[in-house]
Formats: sequence, structure tokens, C-alpha cells
Amino acid sequence: MNIIKARRIAQVFFFLLFVWFCVVTTVGERWWQWRGWPVNWFLQLDPLVALGTLLTTKTVYAGLLWGVATVALTVVFGRFFCGWLCPFGALHQFIGWLGRRWKKHAERVAMNQFRQSQVIKYYVLIALLSAAAGGLISEALRLPHRKPAVASLLAIGGLLILTWLTTRKLAGRFKSAVLWFSTIVAVWIGIGLIAQPDALAAASLQTGLLDPIPLVYRSFNLVVLTVFDGIGAANRFYVAAWTITLVFLAAVLLNLWIPRFYCRFICPLGALFGVLVRWTPWRIGKRVGECSGCELCENNCEGACDPFGTIHTSECLLCMNCLHACRKAKMGYSLNRSASGEDEATGVTRRGFLAAGVSGVVAVPAARLGGFLDHNWNSNVVRPPGALAEEDFLNRCIKCGQCMRVCPTNVIQPALLEAGLGGLWTPVLNFRIGTSGCQLNCIACGNVCPTAAIRPLTLDEKHGAGDFATAGPVRMGTAFVDRSRCLPWAMDMPCIVCQENCPVSPKAIYVREEFQVIENGARIIRSATTTNLQLDGAALRNGKLATGDYFIRLENETPAERRLITENSANAITVAGNSAWPEAPEAGRRALIEVRLQKPMVDPDRCIGCGVCQHECPVSGLRAIRVTAENESRNPRHSLTART
Ligand code: SF4
Ligand code: SF4
Ligand code: SF4
Repeated sequence: MNIIKARRIAQVFFFLLFVWFCVVTTVGERWWQWRGWPVNWFLQLDPLVALGTLLTTKTVYAGLLWGVATVALTVVFGRFFCGWLCPFGALHQFIGWLGRRWKKHAERVAMNQFRQSQVIKYYVLIALLSAAAGGLISEALRLPHRKPAVASLLAIGGLLILTWLTTRKLAGRFKSAVLWFSTIVAVWIGIGLIAQPDALAAASLQTGLLDPIPLVYRSFNLVVLTVFDGIGAANRFYVAAWTITLVFLAAVLLNLWIPRFYCRFICPLGALFGVLVRWTPWRIGKRVGECSGCELCENNCEGACDPFGTIHTSECLLCMNCLHACRKAKMGYSLNRSASGEDEATGVTRRGFLAAGVSGVVAVPAARLGGFLDHNWNSNVVRPPGALAEEDFLNRCIKCGQCMRVCPTNVIQPALLEAGLGGLWTPVLNFRIGTSGCQLNCIACGNVCPTAAIRPLTLDEKHGAGDFATAGPVRMGTAFVDRSRCLPWAMDMPCIVCQENCPVSPKAIYVREEFQVIENGARIIRSATTTNLQLDGAALRNGKLATGDYFIRLENETPAERRLITENSANAITVAGNSAWPEAPEAGRRALIEVRLQKPMVDPDRCIGCGVCQHECPVSGLRAIRVTAENESRNPRHSLTART
């Protein structure tokens, strides 16, 4: 078997494995549904997931240590992940192959030529990592402000070391190093003393927007698989899926123009690998300087790294096409440097590095001008059970969509802008969508989240039982009754749906029972038997009063003597035989038709914000009972009543 066949088999295998992991990430009884499959494996292999969360949280969640293995293998062998393992890369390669199938040799060579603009992906990476490092930068800036003595000592120490170095070796670059160092320290101390570091820089984990692995997980979970969901599992629907579709389609279709467009120009993970392979011992290159010049290597090159000329090692995806295409076997993968020259530089300039880094850092406070993390927090953003406090949550969520996929009720939806710009595509609960609110006995989302943005809970912890009895249940928010829309409160219409469906025990919804005379309910009796009254006045709707919620009593009877209506026609009302009047009421007397209203009230100590009541509320459109995030247990500052 030649190397190309081996690579294709690997790509197909890993792509299908990835699709399989997405398919099985649903909760259910079917044999193929989630049963401990390592569904996050590709996310765990992705070192950018680990690096991003490391910068924002200073910790790495256990499973993400797989990324270290990817880094180690890349440093030794090159970008094997891009060429052999990445499911998104395989998709790009396939579409790119479709796009160039009918192209002539010269056109294909032109498509695959190296372009300076491939450097863009490195700037994307720098901007995303700087945004993630904003918290660390802010801490560093705070140092001169909080501990001026420590900061000054550090600065003086650094200066002394550099001065000593420069006086020993008076080379020009050491002088310039001293100059740079002094300027940076002066700016650092200056900013730290006069500015508000928190307003200047803050962490924001946005790597998931463009990191190919979360991107492809999100796209398959929320877009591609929803087309087939009806076949094996319940139909899914995601409100903001159109935005995800646009990005996914653009990324995939651009391959028709330039193969592996995303990998060559945008992919921040590819850029990270590009930096890592700078010192890799194993590399693709020409065995001899001279060759026939057929450029078949360029014709087939996936990375556009110029294997024919001076090869750009950081761009090589290890597709091995050049090895296979070269009829004279002049290309090789070995420990030797390319005979026609190598360029290991990424193309990043110092100015570009600074501009991308500063843009990443500055973008975060600018994006947070809405103040969604502070007093202006949006209580309509209800997060899944076990979600960390909002800032910590945003510092961990990579927008992979795994929680949305696994949720058996489809209540978890990708946010648009309701959680701020930084919260784009993070999970929020939308209780109008799906088959129910959050299920009382489900803890799936926390168990699948690859970064612990949603903590893995036990059922005991979720219910506030056993060891967690003192802490109480995990609350996502609180249900509020909108009395201007609730049928019993606003329209004298009997309804008890929310109370009946509330799953907690004892129920978090209790009712205030009241009897009201219905509109035009005081009627003159035309004739009567002991169980049936013929009434004057406007016609009643047939059967409307026979629901078990309507009663009738004579005007001089006490409330306790009201009788349940079992039947009604336009002008007649019948009561049950066992509650018949002892004698037929006289004609001309007044009877009162009453409705029993059970007006719902919520006990905030019991309500966990599961949203089942909101989902079941029969008022279509804006529900009459709605859950918002007040009282959520993940953030004590979001208590029910505002603190003064
Ligand atoms: S715990 Fe609730 S929100 Fe999370 S997956 Fe289960 S039903 Fe969905
Ligand atoms: S919260 Fe959901 S979208 Fe965010 S990282 Fe966890 S599983 Fe992925
Ligand atoms: S949100 Fe609260 S009141 Fe509504 S069903 Fe859930 S626990 Fe009951």
C-alpha cells in the first residue's frame, strides 16, 4: 500500500469516527446512543482547546492533556494532525479535490502556489490567544499598582542584568534589547499606575469561533445532523443555526476556489502547528536540488508550501502528495533538509505581531461595553444546570455544541447576542423549543462538556439530596408568573397546567383557589327540575361549563352549597344527580354561575428553574409563566432581590 492510500484510509477513518461520535452524542434508549463513547476525543486532541482554557483559567481540564501528545508528535513528525487526522481538514481536502478535478496542470499549480497572505492565520492565532491571555495581562498590569515595590525591584533587576550583559558584549543588538526592555517596563509601570487594568484587559476565550475542531463539532451537531435527526432520534431544531451554517458553508465552499482555503489562510490550530514544526527533525523536501521541473509536486500540494522551490516547512500538511506525484522519486520525508532550500519562518512581522496582539487584548473590553457581566447582566440568559458563574463559564466554553447535541429535550440552544458578543454560540436554555424543559433526572450536559464549563453533576447534587442536602438543589433560575397573561389571573379562565407539570417535590407552584361569578353569570331561572335549570339571558356555548371547573348556586345559597355543573346547552345547565336540589328551584329566582380559579404562585425556595412549566404553559407565544436567571445557584450575586 502506498503512502497516499494509507493517508486516505486514515482520513476517511477519522472523519467517520468523528461523525459517529457526533451521532451518538444523544441521550436515549437506542443501542447506538451515548454509552460512554469518548465523544470528545477530537476536542481533547486539539492543543488549542487546552492552551486557550489554560490562558483564561490557569488550569487544564484533565482530558485536555491529550493535546500534549498531539504537540509532542507534531514537534517530531510535523503537521500530521492536519494531513491525516483532522476531520475538518479531510472535508476541505475532499471539496478541494472536487473543485480542481477538471482543472489543467497550470491552473492547479497556480491554485497551489504559496501566497504571502497565508500568514493571516498566524495573526488570527495571535489575536485569539491575546484575547484569552487578557486576564493574565490585566494581572501583570495590576502589579505596579498593587505592589509598586515588587514591580520596581523586578524592573531594576531586569535592567541590571541587561546592562551587565551589554557592557560585557557591546554588540548593537544588546543595546537595542536594553532600550526595548526599558521602554516596555516604563510603559508597563505607567499603565499600571494610572489606568484601571480591569477595564483595559480581560480574558475572553474566543478560540472556539475559528478553531477547526470546535467549529466542525458545532457545525455537525447543530446543522448537518439535524437534517437526518428524524431517522434515528427526535427531531432537533436550533434557533441560531443559520449563523453557524453560514460560517460552515463559507469555510467549505471556499475550497472550490482555493483548495484547503481554511487551512491555508484562517485556521488558528494550523498556525499553532506551523509554529511548532519550526524545529521538527522529520520533514518533506527534495532529495536533490535539480529535477525535471514538471511541478507535479506543486500541482498536488495541499498546503501550498512550495515543495518544488524553497519549501515553507510551517505550511506543509504532510499530505505526502508530492512524494507520490514525483515520478522521479526526488521528494522525500526524512531527517534531511530540502535540497532546494527551506524557509522555516512563519512570515509574521514584529509590527503585525504587536498589532494582532493588541487588537486581541483591546477587543475584549470593547466587546464587553454592554456590561453583561456586571450590573447589566441579562437575566434572560439561563444556563444549563452545573454551568459555572458567568465569567468563569465564558472563560471555559469553546462553543463546541456538545451540550446542545446531548440534551434529550433540545432545550439547550446556541446564543446569538443575548449573552453579549463574547457569548456567541454558547449554550442558553430556551424553554419554548424542544420537547420539555430541563429534565429533573438528567445530568447529560455536564458529563459531556469537554472543558467543564458545565460541571459534571451527580443526581444527588442536582437534586440537593444526600451529601448536598445543606447546599440545596442546583437552581438555573426562577419561574415568574406574568399575571397579565396567566389565564386564571388575567382572564378568569381555569388552568392548572404549570402546577400539574412542575416536577419537583413538593411542587414549586402552589395555587390560590378563588371562585368568581363569570361574566353574565347571574341568570334568572325560567323553569327547573332538581338537577336541571333552564335559564334566561344570552346563549351559553355548548359544553363549555362541563369541564369540572364551573359551579352553580342559587343566589341565597352559601358558597359551600355550590353544585358542580356536569352538562350545559345554550340555555340549560345540569348538575350531578348526587348534588341535586331537594326541590326544584322556583322560576324567577336568580342563580349564579361560578368558575373555580386556581391562580398559580411560585415558591422561590423550591423552584429550580427547570422551565417545564414554561414549556407546558398553554399560552402560545410569550408564555404566562417564564423562567429567568434570578436566584440561580451558580452566582450568589444574582439573588432574587437586588441588593442595596
Ligand atoms: S440536564 Fe437538563 S439541560 Fe442538561 S442535558 Fe439534561 S435536560 Fe438538557
Ligand atoms: S458548555 Fe456546551 S458548548 Fe460550551 S464547551 Fe461545554 S459542551 Fe461545549
Ligand atoms: S421552573 Fe420552577 S415552577 Fe416551573 S416547573 Fe420548574 S421547578 Fe416548577
